[in-house]
Amino acid sequence: MATVRDVIIIGSGPAGLTAAIYCARAGLSPLLIEGEAVSSTDLPGGQLMITTEVENYPGFADGILGPKLMGEMRAQALRVGAEIITRRASSVDVQDRPFHVRVGSDDYRAESLIVATGAQARMLGLPSEGLLLGLGVSTCATCDGFFFKGRNVVVVGGGDTALEEALYLANIVGSVTIVHRRGELRASRILQERAFKLPNLEVRWNSVVAEILGDRRVTGVKLEDTLTGGSDILSSDAVFVAIGHVPATQLFEGQLKLDEAGYIVTGDGTATSVDGVFACGDVQDQKYRQAITAAGSGCMAAIDVERWLQGTRAGQAR
Ligand code: NAP
Repeated sequence: MATVRDVIIIGSGPAGLTAAIYCARAGLSPLLIEGEAVSSTDLPGGQLMITTEVENYPGFADGILGPKLMGEMRAQALRVGAEIITRRASSVDVQDRPFHVRVGSDDYRAESLIVATGAQARMLGLPSEGLLLGLGVSTCATCDGFFFKGRNVVVVGGGDTALEEALYLANIVGSVTIVHRRGELRASRILQERAFKLPNLEVRWNSVVAEILGDRRVTGVKLEDTLTGGSDILSSDAVFVAIGHVPATQLFEGQLKLDEAGYIVTGDGTATSVDGVFACGDVQDQKYRQAITAAGSGCMAAIDVERWLQGTRAGQAR
């Protein structure tokens, strides 16, 4: 029978790694299951692995590259004693303690669990989008923008992510057309101001992508006007989908309380609906979704676990 650990952490973004650093320094010998690369946009380390410059993480006056920041956090977690497994958790059982986390045929057990599985890019759901993924359809400008140097590309969405993608692409490609379903952007004012200054960036307002065109590569999009219902074709060599995220909570459906959007519901601090299971980072946060808030909630989860273990053990000793 496998040893019962104090804590297992699932997920290796800023939340999971910060939780690992704090748990390790508290003497809890955490095991962190960091996942493994399944695609160029789904890597251990989470969303910062597909980001270039991070300018808003405190402590780096000149900014830092996302993958570099995650590499530093991982190295720090290892240095203070966290154990890291580079595989994906295949199933989780939190019905009874100790909890079980299965990784393929291996079964790990722990008194407590920190869920930091993050969120992934939301897709439009068009069949053509799936068929042309990697052939011009992308969710990561910093990963794939280079392939479209000097070409015309479309970015779908009106939030901060869409604007960041568009700003990044405008430096590389010939022209960027943002396609947004409403008449105003959701993105922050500073990003909008930067975007509207660029001569090679335009916005197609009140428009949705009804179809992505192309056989073996993207050649264009069919746009539908949300006000008039009319449609037209826009030539494009790539479509960058930047319409938000979905939380990675499939492992916990039916076990932890989720909200209507699928995010884990946390109550007191990082506590979930199951005693001994804590959640941090984007998997429980629809509102802030920043690297720094994820890291902060990872710290909170580690402190919550430490206090919970102390309380549970004190109760058992009585
Ligand atoms: P978001 O704020 O939820 O924006 C998603 C955008 O996609 C919205 O404009 C939305 O349109 C559109 N959209 C959603 N579903 C769609 C669909 N099916 N078809 C067409 N359009 C669709 O997501 P996000 O931009 O990924 O940002 C998430 C969070 O991270 C936000 O809090 C954001 O501020 C933060 N963030 C911050 C930074 C930064 O500070 N540098 C960078 C990236 C993200 P509507 O506007 O009509 O809803």
